[in-house]
Amino acid sequence: MQFIDEAEVYAKAGDGGAGAVAFRREKYAPRGGPSGGDGGDGADIVLETDERLTTLLDFRFKREYRARNGEPGRGRDQNGHAAPELLLKVPPGTLVRDSASGEILADLRDAGRRWVLAKGGRGGLGNMNFATATLQAPRFAQPGTDGEEKRIKLELRLLADVALVGFPNAGKSTLVSRVSKAKPKIADYPFTTLQPHLGVVQYKDGRSFVLSDLPGLIEGAHAGAGLRHRFLKHMGRCRVIIHLLDASQDRDLLADFEAINRELALFDPVLGRKAQIVVANKIDVTEARERAAAFAKQLKRKKIVVHEISGATGEGVEKLLDAAVRALDEAGMPPPLARDSAGAGIDASPERTQRTALEDERELDRKAKVQRAPKLTGREKDGVPKAMAKDVETKKGNRRTR
Ligand code: GDP
Ligand code: MG
Repeated sequence: MQFIDEAEVYAKAGDGGAGAVAFRREKYAPRGGPSGGDGGDGADIVLETDERLTTLLDFRFKREYRARNGEPGRGRDQNGHAAPELLLKVPPGTLVRDSASGEILADLRDAGRRWVLAKGGRGGLGNMNFATATLQAPRFAQPGTDGEEKRIKLELRLLADVALVGFPNAGKSTLVSRVSKAKPKIADYPFTTLQPHLGVVQYKDGRSFVLSDLPGLIEGAHAGAGLRHRFLKHMGRCRVIIHLLDASQDRDLLADFEAINRELALFDPVLGRKAQIVVANKIDVTEARERAAAFAKQLKRKKIVVHEISGATGEGVEKLLDAAVRALDEAGMPPPLARDSAGAGIDASPERTQRTALEDERELDRKAKVQRAPKLTGREKDGVPKAMAKDVETKKGNRRTR
């Protein structure tokens, strides 16, 4: 199963500053030569992959990026400053497409990769560059060129970092809605009656992670191998499990807790060993609060911490998120598959249930290689648009070199 996080972004690189027209005016040089400096280059907009990011959430809130223009040239041979680049961080695995055509512009798969999304305009040459023996006082300078403008779509295939498990009505969906700020699109989910509920949680330190409430453990137990397989595959790759229990019902919480864990371990022993955060929910109900406290006492003997929360009122939820992030940190980064960006899908046939996650990853890698976007060429090679490069060559003067 794959989820897609996406965002549309408008980017406009900085324009180049204009070259200046100026002449030297000094006490003992009454008719000094041209002294107009060059304009500075406009800022590039650069995408860089940062492995601390796992979603495109930031781009859902800010969709327009304009980089600064280069400074114009000034008199007394002073060149304008180039504007500093605008760096946008994206999670590894981000695929960049042209908004209009859908064409893949870049596949930023690995951490630490940089890609110039929009090239800044070049600064114009000041009039001091155009003086010749016959034209000693040029009254013109070159304007700067415009920065590139792009409309792009960012796409990230992602897997949930944290999975919620619990009996139906434990309050899983309610909790996801409460803590998440954006809902990624669900890429391929064949079970229309059992939709996973999925959200991107933005943690207070700026990081974000994907939380999913995946039906299937109990609800889908009757649905057979297909769902079982998908459930497993999904759970197998999440890093942390939040185990939610409904304390508002007159039920034996310890028995519920053990039943779900048994179910998990039966599906796959790996699931039984995942980091698990235990939560007693619905403590806004008086009896639930008491039941939760008693349950917490029981588990304390087993050295298990129980978080007592109300997904409905939000009580205790912040502490729960703290614990989830801590557990994610301890679990380490997700496997590279989580960043698969080439659109490769997984064969969902039940025979494949036995395959390990590693084998799946290898297969995805193979598919990804075949579907990899073509290498970028041309403009990116030397960082100078072709037309402009010619321009600079013909008007030599004392143009500074890069
Ligand atoms: P799920 O089946 O685990 O996804 O559970 P839902 O989120 O759909 O919630 C099941 C029912 O419990 C709904 O009627 C919710 O309104 C209710 N519920 C969920 N969270 C809370 C809570 O914190 N307190 C109370 N009192 N009710 C809740
Ligand atoms: Mg639900």
